[in-house]
Amino acid sequence: MTPLLPRSLAVLAVVAASVAVPVRMVEGGPATRMALLDEPDRPTGEALPFPATHLGLRWSGAHDATVEVRWEVGGAWQPWQAAPVAHDLEDEARGLVYSGILVAAGAERVEARVAAGDATDVEVAAIDADGGRRTRVRAEVPPAAAQVPPDPATKVAQPAVVSRAEWGADESLKGREPQTFAPVTKLFVHHTVTPTVDPDPAATIRAIYAFHTQVRGFNDVGYNWFVDAAGRVYEGRYSRQYGAGERPTGEDALGRGVVGAHAEGSNTGSIGIALLGDFTSVGPSPAAMSSLQAVLAWAADRHGIDPQVSSPYVRVADGSVVTFPNLAGHRDARATECPGDILYAWLPGLRNAVAETIAQARQVTPGYWVAARDGRVLPFGSAPPLGDLGGVPLNSPVRALAATPGGRGYWVLTGDGGIFAFGDATFHGSTGAIKLNQPVVGMAATPTGRGYWLVARDGGIFAFGDAAFHGSTGAVKLNQPVVGMASTPTGRGYWLVARDGGIFAFGDAVFRGSTGAIKLNQPVVGMAVAPRGEGYWLVAGDGGLFAFDATFAGSVPGLKLASFAGTVAIRATPTGRGYYVLGVDGGIFSFGDARFHGAPAGLGGAVPAADLALLPPAAVQV
Ligand SMILES: [Zn+2]
Ligand SMILES: [Zn+2]
Repeated sequence: MTPLLPRSLAVLAVVAASVAVPVRMVEGGPATRMALLDEPDRPTGEALPFPATHLGLRWSGAHDATVEVRWEVGGAWQPWQAAPVAHDLEDEARGLVYSGILVAAGAERVEARVAAGDATDVEVAAIDADGGRRTRVRAEVPPAAAQVPPDPATKVAQPAVVSRAEWGADESLKGREPQTFAPVTKLFVHHTVTPTVDPDPAATIRAIYAFHTQVRGFNDVGYNWFVDAAGRVYEGRYSRQYGAGERPTGEDALGRGVVGAHAEGSNTGSIGIALLGDFTSVGPSPAAMSSLQAVLAWAADRHGIDPQVSSPYVRVADGSVVTFPNLAGHRDARATECPGDILYAWLPGLRNAVAETIAQARQVTPGYWVAARDGRVLPFGSAPPLGDLGGVPLNSPVRALAATPGGRGYWVLTGDGGIFAFGDATFHGSTGAIKLNQPVVGMAATPTGRGYWLVARDGGIFAFGDAAFHGSTGAVKLNQPVVGMASTPTGRGYWLVARDGGIFAFGDAVFRGSTGAIKLNQPVVGMAVAPRGEGYWLVAGDGGLFAFDATFAGSVPGLKLASFAGTVAIRATPTGRGYYVLGVDGGIFSFGDARFHGAPAGLGGAVPAADLALLPPAAVQV
C-alpha cells in the first residue's frame, strides 16, 4: 500500500510552486471518484470499488417507475429506499430517467430493484465525493479589465457565495465545450431532490456535479447556484476565471449570464437556483428561503427583471414564444414536479418579498393608501390594511391622510378637525371639541410621529403632541384660502399653501417660490416637499405641476388625457425623483421613480378621493 501524502504537504508543495512561478494554482479539493454499476440486482448486491458517500441511479423507461435501492455499510444492509426522480435531468430523447443524489455514507455494496412501472437497464453510480486523489488545475488569471463594472442603477448587494474552489469543485470533471452566455431575463427555482437534512451539503454538491457531468453528460453542473438548508449560497456552473478578491457572479465580462442545464428548452438567458433538498411535502428552512430571496433579489435587480410579472420568452431551439413568470418555478416552463409542491406554493410570497427587497434597496415606494371622503382607506402594493372609517357616519368628510414615519399607521382627518388614528398612530388631540371659524383643510405629522399640526382654511395652525407652533396666517387677511400644509424634514417648520399658490413659510421652512404672481388655469390644491426640504412641488386642480428647486418629472396635462376629473393631492417619493398625483376620481398618476401599485376602482361620483399617503421603503418587513 502506498502511503498517502499528508494533505498539509500537498498544500505546501502548491504554495512553493506558486512562489517559484507566478501562476496561480487552483486546487480541485478532494477529487470525486465514481463507478457506474450495471444492473446490480443480485440478492447479494454488488461490491463497490471504494466506499461511497453518495449514490445516483439511471434507468430506461418511465419517470413514474418506482426503482428501489439499498446499500450495505459495515456488513449491515440499510433499508430499501425508493430513488427520488430528478426530473431536471430527464433525457426524453433517449428515454432515460435519472434519480436525485442519495446520501449513502460508507456504502460498500449496493442492490437495486424495480418495484413498479417501466424501468429497465438500471444503473447505479457510486460516488465518493471525499476520498479521491486531489487534482490541481492551472488557473488562468484574467486581465483586470475583465472585471464587470458595477451598474450604478443596481442597489441590491450580492449575498456571500461559496466559490467552486471553496466547495471543492474538481475542475477536471468539466467538459471541454466553451461556456455560452446570454442576457438574463428569467429566474428559475429548483429543488435538487437530495436529502433535505444533509450533513455535508458541499459533498452533495460535488456528487451532483460528478453525476451531471459523468453520468448525465452535461458539460458542467446544471444549476447556476445552490442554496443549502443553512442558507449558504454556492457558485454552480462555471462562468469564468475571477480575479483575486473578486466574487463569482455567474457572468461573463459583459454581464451576461452563463447558460446552464437546469430547465430544458429555457436555459438560455435564465438563471437556475437549486435549493438542496426535496420540497414535495416539506418546505425549505427559513435560512434557505432567506438566502434564496437574497440571491433572487440580487439577480433580478442586477439584470433588471421584474419578479412580479410574466413576460414572453423565446426558446432558442425552435423560436417558439412562451409566456411564464419572470421568477418561475421549474414547472412554470415544463411539466415537472420541480421545485416540489410546497416550495412552489411559496413562490407568490417569494416574488413579493424579492420585489420589496429591491424596492427597499432602491428606495422605491412599496405601496400607498388612498383615503376617500366617505372615510374609507384603501391599501395598495405592500401597504397593509390598518382600518378605516368606512360605514361610520361622519359629520364632515375626510380631508387628509398622514402616515406615521414607520408606515405602520396613519391618521385620518375630517373637515371638522376630527382625528382618527389607526395602526401605530396615536391620538394627540384634535379640534373636534373646539368651535372653529373655518374648516380644517390639511395636516402634517412631525418626523417622530409623536405629534401633528392641523391647518384651517384661514391658515390657523393647531399643534398637538411634539408639534411646535411656528406661526400662522391666522391674523393675516388672505387673498385666497389655505388648502394644505407640509412639514420640513426636521419638524422645526412648515409651509402653508393657498389656493392661488401663495406659499407661507414658518420656522426653518424656506420660501423657494410660488405661483402667487402667475395666473393659474386652476387653483392649487396641494404641495409636496423634496426629501431634504430643498424644494417643493405644487399641484393645481387640473394636475398642472409647479416645481420649485425640485425635479419636474411630468404633469397630468402632459399626459393629454381625454378627460380628467381633477386633482386632490400630491405626494413625493423618498428620493425626490418622482411623485404621485391623486385624482378626485381615485386615479393615481405616477411620475419619475414613483411606482404604480394600483388605484381604487369605483371611487368618484358621489365619493371622491380625499388624500394619499405613501408607505416608506423601510416599512416593509422582508
Ligand atoms: Zn419527469
Ligand atoms: Zn428543476
